[in-house]
Amino acid sequence: MFRSKFSYSNSKSSYSDLLTDIEEGKIESIFFYPRQREIDVLFKNGDKFKIPILYNDQLILEKATENKVELTINNSRKDSAAANSFASISLLIIFILALVLILRSTSKLASRAFGFSKNQAKFATIDDVDTRFDDVAGVPEAAEELKEVITFLKEPEKFENLGAKVPKGVLLIGPPGTGKTLLAKAIAGESGVPFLSIAASEFVELFVGVGASRVRDLFAKAKEKSPCIIFIDEIDSIGRQRGSGIGGGNDEREQTLNQLLTELDGFADNSGIIVLAATNRPDILDAALLRPGRFDRKIEVMLPDLDGRKKILSVHSLSKPLSKEVDLGYWASRTVGFSGADLANLMNESAIHCARNKSKLISDFHIENALDKITIGLRSSLITSSNMKKIIAYNEVGRAIVSAVRNGIESVDKITILPRSGSIGGYTKICPDEDVISSGLISKKLLFSKIEIALAGRAAETIVFGESEITQCSINDISYATNIVREMVTKYGFSIIGPISMDSDNNEMFLGGGLFRRKPLIAGKTSSRIDNEIIRISKISLNNSIEILKKNRVLLDKLVDILLNKETIDKQVFKLTTSTLLKV
Ligand code: ADP
Ligand code: MG
Repeated sequence: MFRSKFSYSNSKSSYSDLLTDIEEGKIESIFFYPRQREIDVLFKNGDKFKIPILYNDQLILEKATENKVELTINNSRKDSAAANSFASISLLIIFILALVLILRSTSKLASRAFGFSKNQAKFATIDDVDTRFDDVAGVPEAAEELKEVITFLKEPEKFENLGAKVPKGVLLIGPPGTGKTLLAKAIAGESGVPFLSIAASEFVELFVGVGASRVRDLFAKAKEKSPCIIFIDEIDSIGRQRGSGIGGGNDEREQTLNQLLTELDGFADNSGIIVLAATNRPDILDAALLRPGRFDRKIEVMLPDLDGRKKILSVHSLSKPLSKEVDLGYWASRTVGFSGADLANLMNESAIHCARNKSKLISDFHIENALDKITIGLRSSLITSSNMKKIIAYNEVGRAIVSAVRNGIESVDKITILPRSGSIGGYTKICPDEDVISSGLISKKLLFSKIEIALAGRAAETIVFGESEITQCSINDISYATNIVREMVTKYGFSIIGPISMDSDNNEMFLGGGLFRRKPLIAGKTSSRIDNEIIRISKISLNNSIEILKKNRVLLDKLVDILLNKETIDKQVFKLTTSTLLKV
């Protein structure tokens, strides 16, 4: 065949060289294969090259015709016909394979449903787990306690000699994304003992009794492998309080839990098995599960503090090229309340953003954008109506000023009127207080300031545009404020009604409280007092916000001006403008 005349050696000639060569008249002839993205080029000096071109490359055709190079179009279908028949044969094979797979998986499904004794526990051996304690940052207390668990497994004699019992169960408790699963993996990786890991939901199947038999199997396997660790993730899905079933629907779950309790009691002390479990809902766990002798150790995995966040950020930027100016300490200070998973996500989004911009190094710009995307949402199309922009700007700046007065200038992180997907208008990012996050204590003062900040948008509109011109722009903030006020009155006892809990939300039913749990009794008279109190507090808070903004009218207008021009006010600009003008 013709093509065999050409050398298949790696050609040095490139596409751009080819264009010049054509112009300079060095080419004898060109052979096209329209179905392939390459051409054969015969040089006048006898050299032959294969050169890749674009599909349907008009430029080469034009250049060749212009410079009178001999063109041969090889429209033979032979190659493509062969390719076609190859394609159809492979299609047939794929089809048959798919059919076989489908048939096999259905038969597997059927046998799985009836193969009660088969355990679905994922068996992770040591070589599978490459997580180490180094990968878990910012939770030093939890990591320390868990390191002890490893000693229990490796040197049980140490404890036995003193007559101490090694704990059987360790429960990791903490908000989602704080690294509980990660810690469990780290223990497995560090301890080097076999690690049986299963998600609690995998116990639960369609048929009554399957879960219980799986629990039995799991523990039987563990006994064979001892010393070893059993890890049950998201244990709340089977460990809920019993007796809350409506109808018979929960029988299966109850049996599974009962079996788990029995197994936990069943293995002898110091037998070298430690059961590790994780949950973010310890409040709904069955009391029997938590009593000494079962999960008697509870380790809290908390949201990371400033230093912890910095460490987690650096763990997650190990494999990412950071530009020199990036100060992870600064980003840690901007991410109050973020969990480890949020921080991992932040670094990942930054890397994605960086790649999308075709930059080589991740810079502050990319991280800023990623942070916005995570906290505020993606940018959507711009607001065009200037009137609407103004209303939104006053809403946002109003909230920022009230926050600055109540919680300090530092509390405002960013104000923007760039619309984000999922929100009508702009956004004011207010950093939660580090102390509140770490202590979990909420003061009356804090709640009042939250309400005032939420109502500040309405307050700003009222004083700037007048009572009759207000819009529904702050609708979400108002419902947020009302919820807080209701909680203040009915839950925390923060109102003149007194320290009485009248919390009537009875969703405990689904959390194990039982269907016929007595609701708190509230007399009609008290109900109306509650309502009046809610209205009173809301009105006072709105008035407080109005007062604050009236006092700061000059600053309000000035910030709105900047915001309308620049669309975003960041922390520094806010601080600079506000520090001299703010009247507390
Ligand atoms: P959960 O507490 O909900 O089980 P995970 O352990 O599954 O959370 O965490 C999810 C991901 O978040 C981890 O894979 C890890 O990338 C990241 N992460 C969470 N906490 C930490 C931490 N303390 N240090 C480093 N990375 C963390
Ligand atoms: Mg988890």
